[in-house]
Amino acid sequence: MLRLENKNVLVTGASRGIGKAIAELFAEEGANVIVTDINDESGDKVAAGIGGTSCYLHLDVGREDDWIAASEFVKNKYGGLDVLVNNAGIAGILETQGPHDPENLDINSWHKVHETNLDGVALGCKYGIRLMKNSLSGSIVNISSRSGIVGIPFAAAYASSKAAVRNHTKSVALYCAEKKYHIRCNSIHPGAIYTPLWDVMLGEGEQRDNAVKAISSEIPLGAMGEPKDVAYAALYLASDESKYVTGIELNVDGGILAGSAASPPNT
Ligand code: NAD
Repeated sequence: MLRLENKNVLVTGASRGIGKAIAELFAEEGANVIVTDINDESGDKVAAGIGGTSCYLHLDVGREDDWIAASEFVKNKYGGLDVLVNNAGIAGILETQGPHDPENLDINSWHKVHETNLDGVALGCKYGIRLMKNSLSGSIVNISSRSGIVGIPFAAAYASSKAAVRNHTKSVALYCAEKKYHIRCNSIHPGAIYTPLWDVMLGEGEQRDNAVKAISSEIPLGAMGEPKDVAYAALYLASDESKYVTGIELNVDGGILAGSAASPPNT
């Protein structure tokens, strides 16, 4: 028995990085995966690579009309939804105009980051609940960040949006429980995962190698994570193995959030 046998799953932002790893792993575990993104060319390739019952659908998570169209598509093609992974997100550094620090932030950029990272998740949960409320084992997995738990001085909008995702996850979890819907909702908090999201921050060639080394040296487990590390956590939360788990936050961060700076030395 595969862990997601015959479950209908929609993953947002699945044309690369963590979303792609989730889509591929879930398909290996028997899910019918709806790969969604705004990058249609790459998304098509991911769905084609998975094959079988999977498909690609254009879905800009910040647009309610896209969610309405996606809901119709899912109902017509798959009959319903069992799992939604709200993965799409932007750091904002590349996609919007800076700066992103609290003193100088550009308010339009602030809104754009929240539109994708927070409105996208809120809309996903709204339409996910409507699609899943007849499922006997629905699961919504929201990809937040370690930045949803601690502050990031030069990516303040990102951190704020991810903190809101963390909290909204718990509201969704409790709402669904009160309504007696069989829908659980949990958040995952990745640390530093090596994906294209980091491209603009890491640079190229030797500069990139040095930057990765510097970041790795600050991670208790000594390395940046791989997309699959997050995908396995999402697999647990998506599957019925976690049927008694709702409203939690699962850190996948190599131990970053386990400690704090300025801890007493070993004397
Ligand atoms: P990525 O940039 O490699 O991939 C993000 C994907 O989202 C891309 O395919 C992009 O086209 C898509 N996307 C962007 N805007 C969208 C929109 N409006 N609608 C639909 N799709 C959209 O990023 P990643 O590293 O794979 O990150 C995935 C998620 O994990 C994000 O929410 C990110 O914030 C979160 N996260 C990543 C890290 C990390 O270190 N990589 C750490 C913490 C949290």
